[in-house]
Amino acid sequence: MRKYNIGFSKINHIFISHLHGDHIFGLIGLLSTMELLGRKNDLHLFAHSELQKFLSPQIQFLYPDGITFKIVYHPLNFKKKQLIYEDQKVSVYSFPLSHRIPTCGFRFDEKPIPPNLIPEKLVEYQIPIRQRQQIKDGEDFITETGQIIPHAELTIYKHKPRSFAFCSDTRFDESYIESVRNVDLLYHEATFASDNKDLAHTTYHSTGEDSAKVALKAEVGKLIIGHFSARYKDHLITLKEAQAVFPNTTAIAEGDVIYIGKGD
Ligand SMILES: [Zn+2]
Ligand SMILES: [Zn+2]
Repeated sequence: MRKYNIGFSKINHIFISHLHGDHIFGLIGLLSTMELLGRKNDLHLFAHSELQKFLSPQIQFLYPDGITFKIVYHPLNFKKKQLIYEDQKVSVYSFPLSHRIPTCGFRFDEKPIPPNLIPEKLVEYQIPIRQRQQIKDGEDFITETGQIIPHAELTIYKHKPRSFAFCSDTRFDESYIESVRNVDLLYHEATFASDNKDLAHTTYHSTGEDSAKVALKAEVGKLIIGHFSARYKDHLITLKEAQAVFPNTTAIAEGDVIYIGKGD
């Protein structure tokens, strides 16, 4: 995060899919840095209720007098899809995945963004300033002669609401496909290539092909794969196998910047 200039103070919500070490060992380091920077805002952690058991003793050990900010724990539901967070801009859902221990995926849906008024149309129909907000909010415009100018003719949307889903770790399972349907961008683990298909199944992980099958069935815009097993020198085979099923697939590398729903 330091290397890529990502502001620590901007992070207020952290979503933890499950309590395997590779998904939670970094947390205490991050929290310590936040403490060092004198963080004041609450930090919201969405995770299995047991996370507190793992984290609290570490915080207690390092900071017997307490830390500068409050941690708010939000336990996840591993049985069904749930709305877990909402503000003016975004809704966040958790949904169960199929892993060795209780695991959730997450879906982030941007809320509809109000459209902009088209300047030429404002001039053309001489729309008074006092009526402009109503039109932005969805109303039609009625001219002095009684002609109705539909809202759609007067406004333009910057972009359609964007969506992103995160699935790690899991083995292929039809049950969560509906939860990621039509997202612009899907991150899905692809721990193994097809040479370790059986191992993927027994360890509750996915192959590149599995992740692409989810992307295809859920009709997503773009697929990003990651969480590669260290046994592979590179991810080319896994990526090629995924692309054979779902062509718009990329293998993630540290520092990549991915735009959601832009030109895909
Ligand atoms: Zn795991
Ligand atoms: Zn993992």
